[in-house]
Amino acid sequence: MSRENPFLSCIVPAFNESENLQKFIPALAKTLEAENIQFEILVVDDGSEDNSIATLSSMLDKYPLRILELSRNFGKEAALSAGIDHVSDRHLALLIDADFQHPLDAIPTMLSLWKEGYDMVYGIRNRNTESPLKKFLTNIYYKILNFSSDIEIPENAGDFRLLDRKVVTALKALPEKNRYMKGLFAWVGFKSIGIHFSELERENGQTHFNIKALFNLTLAGLTGFSNLPLRLCMGFGALLACCSMSYGIWIIIETLFQGIDVPGWATLIVAISLLGGIQLLFLGIVGEYISRIYTETKGRPQYIIAQEHHHHR
Ligand code: UDP
Ligand code: MG
Repeated sequence: MSRENPFLSCIVPAFNESENLQKFIPALAKTLEAENIQFEILVVDDGSEDNSIATLSSMLDKYPLRILELSRNFGKEAALSAGIDHVSDRHLALLIDADFQHPLDAIPTMLSLWKEGYDMVYGIRNRNTESPLKKFLTNIYYKILNFSSDIEIPENAGDFRLLDRKVVTALKALPEKNRYMKGLFAWVGFKSIGIHFSELERENGQTHFNIKALFNLTLAGLTGFSNLPLRLCMGFGALLACCSMSYGIWIIIETLFQGIDVPGWATLIVAISLLGGIQLLFLGIVGEYISRIYTETKGRPQYIIAQEHHHHR
């Protein structure tokens, strides 16, 4: 495929977005038609409980639409993987949210950068729809993540991306089940460029990422792309051991010169409980990695497809 006449597959993960999809599919199609490009829209319905499927089905004969219906809600990372897995290796892929937060007018810019030779064009969000506290915490998170991992994961680069077929092929070949897509996009490499965009307010409904979902995503990123937590445990353990040894030597010397000194109950209790706490904490960190190994070894698929609906014209 030359960069002149591409076929674009738009991957749209959607979970309970019926109202948005009703308007989003026509809007996306209109943008792409104006670009004079061949395209298909692949909606990954991530186990929606609203009438998304009915809404989408009613549009099947009007738009070049494909619906991938997952058997339940598997989460956005899995939905994106499902989409990528079902895009042809010959196609260019665009990942875009269904809630209008990713501005459609950025698509022409992304396409022209791809034509210039970039293999991956990612949107960098300015997070202006988010609270200052969340912005602040996200900032710290990216600093820690990038400090601790070997690869550079671009800050605030979300899932609004254009992927060349080379990138699609590379992503499909990754066997891991614990998927932190932002990390994997950076990990596969290729000639990439970020463009800044200002995300819009969600049209209908509200975000699916509550504190728990965000916490899980944070942990997936940290454990998936860094061994730093484990190294910290090791370093801290070594430091504590050195301190204890020095203290032991000090006690021996003190005993030799001044005899045995009984008091010290407080020191003892503090040392025991502190050590107990630290051990449990570190065990938890180790456990977090083990649980991820467990998930990988179980080898369950990341998602299950219940049904696929095709456009027929
Ligand atoms: N989404 C999904 N599965 C989920 C949660 C979200 O497919 O379990 C989709 C959702 O429908 C939307 C996109 O992922 O198209 C982004 O989700 P959302 O807007 O809730 O996240 P935010 O924009 O707040 O980060
Ligand atoms: Mg959103």
